[in-house]
Amino acid sequence: MKLLVIGWDGATYNHLEKIKPEFYRKLHRQIFLPEPFWQKREVDSGAAWTTITTGKSFFEHKVLSISGKLENETLFRIFSKVDFLIPSNLFGKAVRLWLMSKLFYKHPPLSTDVKFPRIWEIIPNSLVWSVPVTHPPKPVYGVWVSGIPYPDSYGVYPKKIESMLKKMYYGEPKRGSDLRKYKKELFEQHFREVEAIKWLYDNFEFNFAFIVFVLPDRFMHVENDWDEIKKMYMAIDESTEELVRYINPDNVLILSDHGMKQERRAKWMHTHDSKQGIIASTNRELLVGNHLELFDAIYGLFRGVNSEDMSAL
Ligand SMILES: [Zn+2]
Repeated sequence: MKLLVIGWDGATYNHLEKIKPEFYRKLHRQIFLPEPFWQKREVDSGAAWTTITTGKSFFEHKVLSISGKLENETLFRIFSKVDFLIPSNLFGKAVRLWLMSKLFYKHPPLSTDVKFPRIWEIIPNSLVWSVPVTHPPKPVYGVWVSGIPYPDSYGVYPKKIESMLKKMYYGEPKRGSDLRKYKKELFEQHFREVEAIKWLYDNFEFNFAFIVFVLPDRFMHVENDWDEIKKMYMAIDESTEELVRYINPDNVLILSDHGMKQERRAKWMHTHDSKQGIIASTNRELLVGNHLELFDAIYGLFRGVNSEDMSAL
């Protein structure tokens, strides 16, 4: 495999620099910022991952969040001139996000709402795993496992491996009232997805993989204890290293869509921090400053190699 990209949704630069987990600390690493518009605002994973995987601004791809597309652009542009006047946290209530959901969201966005090719759609023999706003999966030369938002369960292309995959990995756990149980399930499903990805690797030939692990984001949304958070980072660092050893790709890229900061709001313990996302790579430092620039950097690695050559890699 030429390139393995592993997203650690919500992984935070200042946390990781404090902990320095064994695998992560050996990489070239830096802060990875959202596109300029979101650098001073709270970026959502739907908007961020769609920008990262299309190379297009959210004003073009229109995915505002995992809950909705940008429906009324004129009103949104006016809104975003004054949005800093609306508190993001008023006595523990997410007032600004709530208002945005009332004004701009209609339906959760689907993969078909994104009118630009995702990076794996132009690189044959790719694996895509659990990237937000990729449901339903589309036919590709490779394997496409969809990420949230999805109705009851994730989707798989090709269909013939769906039932096998679902015996290994059940999808993202749902947060209920029992937080202890939810946190346990987050870890269980994370380890299961690592096994499922290994199984896919054994059964297909991939040149490229784009994988997102949601564990850091989901866990920190509900956890405040630093020791527990540290354990989570160590666990994902270890499972990532295990996967990297198993696949042995030429290049590895670890990245997050945003960081997390301690802030109690609504039912959350941490909220998104747009200035603390990470990008880290094995072979060399990447000259990418923000989410808009990664698409070309990845595509550049594959340019000049036609699909026939690539299937032989
Ligand atoms: Zn989140």
